[in-house]
Amino acid sequence: MALPDLKSLRLLNHVPPRLLSAAERYLKAVPKVRELLSKETDSLLSELEGDLKPYRGKMPAYDHLPATGRERGEVLKELQALQAQEESRWREGKVSGAVYNGDEGHIDFLNHVYSLHSQSNPLHADLWPSATKFEAEVIAMTASMLGADAANSGKPAQEHICGSMSSGGTESIMLAIKTYRDWAREKKGITKPEMVAPASAHPAFDKAAHYFGVKMVRVPVGPDYRADLAATKKAVNRNTIVIIGSAPGFPHGVIDPIAELSELARRKGVGFHTDACLGGFVLPFARKLHYEVPPFDFRLPGVTSISVDTHKFGYAAKGSSVVLYRGTELRSHQYFTATDWPGGIYFSPTFSGSRPGALIATAWAALVSMGEQGYLEATRRILETASAIKQGIRAIPELYVLGDPLFVIAFGSDEVDVFKVMERMSERGWSLNGLHKPAAVHLCVTLRHAQPGVVERFVEDLRAAVEQVKLNPGEKGTMAPVYGMAASVPFRGLVSDMLKKYMDLLYKV
Ligand SMILES: *Cc1c(COP(=O)(O)O)cnc(C)c1O
Repeated sequence: MALPDLKSLRLLNHVPPRLLSAAERYLKAVPKVRELLSKETDSLLSELEGDLKPYRGKMPAYDHLPATGRERGEVLKELQALQAQEESRWREGKVSGAVYNGDEGHIDFLNHVYSLHSQSNPLHADLWPSATKFEAEVIAMTASMLGADAANSGKPAQEHICGSMSSGGTESIMLAIKTYRDWAREKKGITKPEMVAPASAHPAFDKAAHYFGVKMVRVPVGPDYRADLAATKKAVNRNTIVIIGSAPGFPHGVIDPIAELSELARRKGVGFHTDACLGGFVLPFARKLHYEVPPFDFRLPGVTSISVDTHKFGYAAKGSSVVLYRGTELRSHQYFTATDWPGGIYFSPTFSGSRPGALIATAWAALVSMGEQGYLEATRRILETASAIKQGIRAIPELYVLGDPLFVIAFGSDEVDVFKVMERMSERGWSLNGLHKPAAVHLCVTLRHAQPGVVERFVEDLRAAVEQVKLNPGEKGTMAPVYGMAASVPFRGLVSDMLKKYMDLLYKV
């Protein structure tokens, strides 16, 4: 995601951080200062507006309904033009993550499935029993892939791995946290719930904390960027409802020590959630291909829930994910029922009421059309590609790879400004992710990068970008200072306010 430019705030980097955080509180209390800052950010954001709204003036735009409906063919033509404009970058494999499969035949197939089931809604199970069939089977297939067979063996049905489909990784994570909150309130009387998560865990957990009144306790990661077990142990107290680990985490692509963390949770009698949103459809196959994959799933007795995204490496259309639980009792705390509404008895397992049955159907179709062989082959290609990219990065003396990742490769530098390298890469058409604390850049390898020539082009461009930054460290750029600033300005409240204004901008017609 692009961040707003906060050029003028760079000056603040020269002021001692402790002074600044105290100053921020005072500053925000002074109306004049607030007004000034607000004016300043408005003018900076307006500079960004052109880049964010490239179709203004070039295409019809609506801020009210057209009086009469437009001709369908004409509307379709417009949509096709927009699609064509936007597809080339990800199709060529110049983008980190975002589109995980992108094969034309695969996309056509998913689109066909969507069109067949576009009216379906699992809220009406009587009208569309196919939707509930697809959902139950996606959950069962996903669970089986993540160790359910071993976990279920010899256990009564109510202890079997079960789950729900949701709209994406964030919803899966939020459902899990809400579930633990309600479970802990009922079973343990916890009214001030806390969760413990490594610094690297996805912000969806903060979002859940924010929405559901759960205190987030972040613990640092170790020098290998994996969750620190000792720090986690220290952070657990009698209000802890769940401990979090990622397999792998988004920033550095490394897998937390899930075996140790989940065992800690089991001994303490609290939940353990593995966030396998990113790795759930890669790691099981990597293991079968004899890559070294530490245990992370339901084979570990302490793991009580897992989030796993069908819309990432499951290769389904965007808008679907799975959340899995150990046992139906735990899952029941996710459910909602209303028994006294004049509209009749009502129940809803997830956050949405009506849900897109078509997206569930595309997830089902992706899974059964890929099959185990398909996922194995895709994983083999991705991991071989990632391996070549790692080698390429390590061969550039100014760069180093953070930690020991499988397929999300973060790199930093002690010699050049890595955000400037990212900027020089974006001038060459690459869309990479900027990370901070520490400053780094990552590429999440997908099937798009497994196309012939992509690795070579990436490494060649990266080498050239590093050279360019080395030769001209002062060369101007727009994004590098933004990332540098967003990483280092201690006025976190200001950064947050700026992001909110940025969202306002996105909503402008
Ligand atoms: C993508 C991701 C999420 C959030 O998923 P969304 O589908 O973007 O809501 C959570 N955790 C990890 C590790 C992820 O990679």
